[in-house]
Amino acid sequence: MTHDPNCLFCKIVAGLIPCKKVHEDEDILAFHDIHPWAPVHFLIIPKIHIASLAQVGPEHATLLGRIMTLAPRLALQEGCNPYPQGGFRLLSNTGAEGGQEVHHLHFHVMGGPRPWHRG
Ligand code: AMP
Ligand code: ZN
Repeated sequence: MTHDPNCLFCKIVAGLIPCKKVHEDEDILAFHDIHPWAPVHFLIIPKIHIASLAQVGPEHATLLGRIMTLAPRLALQEGCNPYPQGGFRLLSNTGAEGGQEVHHLHFHVMGGPRPWHRG
């Protein structure tokens, strides 16, 4: 299944729910988190529905590599300060005990001057 009609982030990918877009290409979407923890807080997601990192396999290596290489570029673009004084946090909550609430794979990118609202 590449899309789950009941999935919030699949609905965002499909344009059924609006988002504040940071980046979009054929395979990847990045948009601002609706409840930011930090001055900069956006999510990077694959457009295909993958429930979490627990469902990732070797066939996703290129996609995940692209997300990882995109993260630092988008972090700077969205206002994170440069490494090493600045930087950002990259986080993927996985499963209930990992704190995952939306079950469509996503990577949080958080940054900006401290203190943050959370984290
Ligand atoms: P997680 O706990 O890692 O599953 O995080 C899900 C994140 O999605 C939370 O930080 C929410 O604030 C964020 N979120 C939920 N709904 C939306 C939405 N409609 N647009 C943007 N971010 C959202
Ligand atoms: Zn989904």
